Amino acid sequence: MGKVTGNTPLCDADPELYGLIKQEKSRQRSCLELIASENFTSKAVMDAAGSCLTNKYSEGLPGARYYGGNEYIDQIERLCIKRALEAFSLDEREWGANVQPYSGSPANFAVYTALLKPHERVMGLDLPDGGHLTHGYMTDKKRISATSIYFESMPYSVNRDTGIIDYDKLEDQVSYFRPRMLIAGASAYSREIDYKRMRQIADSTGAWLVADMAHIGGLISAGVIGSPFPYCDVVTTTTHKTLRGSRSGIIFFRRGLREVPGKEPVPYKIENDLNFAVFPALQGGPHNHIIAAVATALKEANTDEFREYQRQVVANSKALCVFLQNKGYKVVSDGTDNHIVLVDLRPSGIDGNRVDQTLDTCSITANKNTVPGDKNAFRPGGVRLGTSALTTRQFKESEFEIVAQLIHEGIEIAKCVQDKQETKLLKEFKEILLNDKDILEKTEALKKKVVNFASSFPMPGHDDI
Ligand SMILES: *Cc1c(COP(=O)(O)O)cnc(C)c1O
Repeated sequence: MGKVTGNTPLCDADPELYGLIKQEKSRQRSCLELIASENFTSKAVMDAAGSCLTNKYSEGLPGARYYGGNEYIDQIERLCIKRALEAFSLDEREWGANVQPYSGSPANFAVYTALLKPHERVMGLDLPDGGHLTHGYMTDKKRISATSIYFESMPYSVNRDTGIIDYDKLEDQVSYFRPRMLIAGASAYSREIDYKRMRQIADSTGAWLVADMAHIGGLISAGVIGSPFPYCDVVTTTTHKTLRGSRSGIIFFRRGLREVPGKEPVPYKIENDLNFAVFPALQGGPHNHIIAAVATALKEANTDEFREYQRQVVANSKALCVFLQNKGYKVVSDGTDNHIVLVDLRPSGIDGNRVDQTLDTCSITANKNTVPGDKNAFRPGGVRLGTSALTTRQFKESEFEIVAQLIHEGIEIAKCVQDKQETKLLKEFKEILLNDKDILEKTEALKKKVVNFASSFPMPGHDDI
């Protein structure tokens, strides 16, 4: 008998890669993870994602595949769709779902491809105001997102003073831009979206209303914030942010009748177009291991434990907000309804880049973010913090009080570094941050505190990788 190949475990087959994954695992365990789009998925989800399903081709939809051997794959995808509808309490006569998009961005592009002709018009929240690249982002010089290359986009914005979406201005913009699609959704927006108002605005010009709940899907599923489903034609989501599954995307679409005020209801005819846009227009074979892992995550989402988790995510976020405000920090919109706290650092005399880099050297992971009124998108004035990941690690309000203190100490160090600067260059800031003796002493001391603290909390997944 020849030597069996392919049965060697990763640690022996590829020690170099195994070592790197182990190091990443240990980084995740010892860091304070505050990136709002991240979370820690369960061992069960990882088991499904690491399964033999990665071997199978299954182009097409359940029951209508191009290849044979799909009797179990069909059942897995159907189970995932059923659980996706259940997770949002949707009736399959009114809503369907496509669980094949590889991630949130491809899901959104499939929606555009299905519902719009090239160069038809879309409106989404501007990226510097908290929107996502895929909502049509472009700059003066360059069309950045493909959604602005193949479609014509116009951004709407938040009110600079309140940080809340300016719905009146949006209504006015819509009246002359006349978009075919309005997108309700954001990546750095801590307030509930008024979907009802957005529906009225979309109806004023007969536009599709698409909600992109990529960040807040888990919160919506648990019912801790308002749902877009009663008002939207299509809803997209990622599955790996607050939903805490593996990395993927879902498109939910209406079935039944479309009601537009003043008109006879007409049947929705978007299901086939959306499915066709995902495959064959944009994608090939579905990632069956990931669809299975999403199915498991959606089963987890439909539990009281998950709903309690999401309640805690929001409680923690509100608490973090107050702790930071008590230390004198300005929070955009003066609060939060979801898992995000957007800190405006400009009144503190420092910027997002400098704080992000300093926190990172101290094992606190967050991200720089533009805040309303920022003039230069490359010098963002804030940081975005999210409570989903650490809440998965059992953090409660009292732990977030400590987190707020540690962030504050990090920002104080960033200010010290800035005070030592002779120029205004970020490069010089980094040099001082990484080399100055006095500063190194401070960052190392803070890092030690952070790592000791973070490492003492449970971490889902496998122990080693
Ligand atoms: C994260 C995000 C996406 C894109 O998800 P990817 O999985 O990174 O492609 C789309 N829309 C919004 C609002 C997001 O926050």
